[in-house]
Amino acid sequence: MPRNDLLEQLAERFVSTVVAKLNGSLQANGLKGRRGVAKKSAPAFSRNMVCRVEGCRNKSGGPRWGYICEEHRKKLSKPEQRRAREKWNKTHEAVKSA
Ligand SMILES: [Zn+2]
Repeated sequence: MPRNDLLEQLAERFVSTVVAKLNGSLQANGLKGRRGVAKKSAPAFSRNMVCRVEGCRNKSGGPRWGYICEEHRKKLSKPEQRRAREKWNKTHEAVKSA
C-alpha cells in the first residue's frame, strides 16, 4: 500500500470529523435560532395576557387570576369576571375561525 493512501485516509478521517463537528455546532445554532424566533413570535401569546374585561388594556395576572387584571379583580365579582372571560373567549374564537 503506497504511503499516500494512508495519509489520504488520515486526512479524510480528519476532514469528516471536522465536518461532523461543524455540522453539530451549526445544528445547535439552528436550534437556538429557532427558539429565538419562537420567542419573537410571542406577541400572540402575550396579547392573551391582556385583561379579559372588554375594553381593558391592562395586563392580567395570567391563568392564576383568570386573566383578569388587578383592577378588575377588585371591581368585579367572581361571576362577573367569569362572564367577562367567557365573552372574551367567544370573540377570541370568532377571530380565530374567521
Ligand atoms: Zn381589567
